[in-house]
Amino acid sequence: MKKLIKNGTVVTATDQYEADVLIEDGKITAIGSNLSDKADEVIDAKGAYLFPGGIDPHTHLDMPFGGSVTSDDFETGTIAAAYGGTTTIIDFCLTNKGEPLKNSIQTWHDKSKDKAVIDYGFHLMIGEVNDAVLNEIPEIIEDEGITSFKVFMAYKNVFQADDQTLFRTLLTAKEHGALVMVHAENGDVIDYLVNEALEKGNTDPIYHALTRPPEVEGEATGRAAQLTGLANSQLYVVHVSCAEAVKKIAEARQKGYQVWGETCPQYLVLDQTDLEKPNFEGAKYVWSPPLREKWNQEVLWNALKNGQLQTLGSDQCSFNFKGQKELGKGDFTKIPNGGPIIEDRFSLFFSEGVKKGRITINQFVDIVSTRTAKLFGLFPQKGTIAVGSDADIVIFDPNQERTISVDTHHMNVDYSAFEGMEITGEPVSVLSRGEFVIKDKQFVGKPGNGQYLKRKRYESQTEIPEKVLQ
Ligand SMILES: [Zn+2]
Repeated sequence: MKKLIKNGTVVTATDQYEADVLIEDGKITAIGSNLSDKADEVIDAKGAYLFPGGIDPHTHLDMPFGGSVTSDDFETGTIAAAYGGTTTIIDFCLTNKGEPLKNSIQTWHDKSKDKAVIDYGFHLMIGEVNDAVLNEIPEIIEDEGITSFKVFMAYKNVFQADDQTLFRTLLTAKEHGALVMVHAENGDVIDYLVNEALEKGNTDPIYHALTRPPEVEGEATGRAAQLTGLANSQLYVVHVSCAEAVKKIAEARQKGYQVWGETCPQYLVLDQTDLEKPNFEGAKYVWSPPLREKWNQEVLWNALKNGQLQTLGSDQCSFNFKGQKELGKGDFTKIPNGGPIIEDRFSLFFSEGVKKGRITINQFVDIVSTRTAKLFGLFPQKGTIAVGSDADIVIFDPNQERTISVDTHHMNVDYSAFEGMEITGEPVSVLSRGEFVIKDKQFVGKPGNGQYLKRKRYESQTEIPEKVLQ
């Protein structure tokens, strides 16, 4: 079965050109002009961009948190991702201290198998380092193809690891070719500030932000970056939200450290005042790190443009307002952290980034797909449109205007964090390994068609550090 996409404009991280794309057995087998013969199905993409499928490096599907479970599982979450132009996700596998890591990985395989409609991989949380964990890591890299490990510097008494754990994870990652990811906030200081706020009776959602100020993110980011330099290892800072953290990443990169940074759509378009919305609606905007003062948005956009931040994750972590976010009425610490973003990440970023002239269209592709594939051992199978790559392709209408709303999104959650926001550009059809998942804006995929991705080891990426510090 051969498919031919005709008349589209192929856009990669480096190029933009009109070409036909031939697909065979799930792979791209030819790119050129007038590839008219041989195809069983011809798709006319006139006026559309052909982007490599989005890769979302940061999702939490079917994840337990604070007595609740995220409302999107691997079926609803990946269907929504596909509608939004994402064809690969890397989800975070949580682990439990004292238990073999392999048990947790099996749990995540059980959650995702037969459910995912697009391809997926796992990052693995490291909560402690001991002989058992150190012995398992090489096997997990080899057998499971899990080549990224997450350490939490926040969530004291829940996920938080100490600095020795972080440092030894960095050393182990260096030895075996993995990338260490950090949630960079100083959990000990947050714990103190939270208790102080509650003692004073400050329980509204806004205090979630006020007890996690940018300094605690900047401090933890700088600490993780310094330890990475000391270990001569590699680090990926997830969900960077503020100028303080950007500065620490930029400084580390200028020293030549392999330090990478991800931000998320919510930090680019929402701000701290959203937490003050009446009727407890501020709870919809509780992320960790929290939304920041609005001026940080420009810092983040500039960092993406200048290469100080390199990727965009959704940090998809959806909880319903009714019955889940509401658990935190009268105590902001009981509000489940996170929001529904997996579907909007790609189009919202195109609209706010490319359409508004903040980044180029090639930077868009690099940030939503290519760079993530390179950092997480998926390139060139994923992350580009090239002969031999998987035919993960988004046929994208750059001029379609629409309004984001809970009434039209496909995530299994009862609100949208971007309700009423008008954006331009929408995926029309989305292919995963040459098969339609979305065709003419309708879901036509099948749960279970998504394949688990064993990823390659981390490879040092040599490039000149950014010259410009904003
Ligand atoms: Zn997260």
